[in-house]
Amino acid sequence: MKTVTLPGGEKVPSLGQGTWMMGERRDRRADEIAALRAGVDLGMTLIDTAEMYGDGAAEALIGEALGTLRERLFLVSKAYPQNASRQRLAGACEASLERLGTDRLDLYLLHWRGRVPLGETVEALEALKAAGKIRHWGVSNLDTDDMKELVAASGGACATDQILYNLTRRGPEHDLLPWLAAQGMTAMAYSPVEQGRLLGHRTLAKIATAVGATPAQVALAWTMRHDGVIAIPKAGSVAHVRENRAAADLTLSDADLAALDAAFPRPRDRRPLETL
Ligand code: NAP
Repeated sequence: MKTVTLPGGEKVPSLGQGTWMMGERRDRRADEIAALRAGVDLGMTLIDTAEMYGDGAAEALIGEALGTLRERLFLVSKAYPQNASRQRLAGACEASLERLGTDRLDLYLLHWRGRVPLGETVEALEALKAAGKIRHWGVSNLDTDDMKELVAASGGACATDQILYNLTRRGPEHDLLPWLAAQGMTAMAYSPVEQGRLLGHRTLAKIATAVGATPAQVALAWTMRHDGVIAIPKAGSVAHVRENRAAADLTLSDADLAALDAAFPRPRDRRPLETL
C-alpha cells in the first residue's frame, strides 16, 4: 500500500476508509462490517469517523467490526466544534473512545471551525496528547487563512487538514494544498468520489475505459497522485472496497492526467474552501 508521511515521520496508508452514514441501518450492518474488515485486510487500515456520524453509531460500528484488529488500525475521529473547548473536549474524546472500544485515537480532528478560539482547542488537544488519549491531532474544513492562524497558535504541530477534494472540487490546488505541503502537513481528501455523483460522468467513464480501470479507481488514483494526500472513500460493500483498493496501485500517465484536466478543469481563480 502506498503511504503518506505525517509530520514527525510516521507513515499511514494513502487510502483509508470513510464511515459517514455507516452504522445507521440495521439491514446494512452485516455488509458494512464485512466491508470494513475486508478493507483492513487489504491494507486500508486508516479508518475515518466522527462523533457526529449517526450520533456515534459509526464509531460503535467500527468498535464492533474492528475491535479485534485494533493494533493494525490508524483510527481517526473528529469532535464537534462546540465540544472543542478546554471544558468539553476531554469528555467528547472519552465518549468516542468508549464507542470505538479503544483507549486511544491515532488522530483526533476538529471537525470544522466554530466559536471556540483555535488556540483553546489546540491547548485541549495537546492536553489529550500528553494524557495518551490521542497520538496526533489535526483539523478539518479549515481554509488557508484559518490554517495560518492555527499554526501561529500551535507552532505547527497539526498533522492534517481534512478537506473536500476531488475532480470536481479542485479549489484547494490554488493555495491550500501547496501551503500544506510546504508546512510538511498532510491533506485528507474527503468525498473523493463526490458521494458517488462523480461516477456517472461520461468523460470520466471514457478515460477509465481507456486506462483499463473503473471511474471510481481513476477518481481515487487522481486524488492520491500528490505525495501528501490521503483519500478516504466510504464503501458499504466488499465489492466496492476491493475496487477502491486497486486504485492505490493505479498510476495515471501524463496523458491521462491531461485528459482529466481538460474534463475537470481547476477553477481559474482562488475560491473559498468548499464543504459538504
Ligand atoms: P465518498 O466516499 O465520495 O462517496 C461514498 C459513496 O460512494 C457511497 O454511496 C458509496 O456507495 C459510493 N462508492 C464508494 N466506492 C464506490 C465504488 N467503487 N463504486 C461505486 N460506488 C462507490 O463520500 P463521503 O462518504 O462523503 O466521503 C468519504 C468519507 O469522508 C466519509 O465517509 C467521512 O468519513 C469523510 N467525510 C468528512 C467530512 C468532513 O467534514 N470532514 C465530510 C464528508 C465526508 P456504497 O456505500 O454503496 O459502497
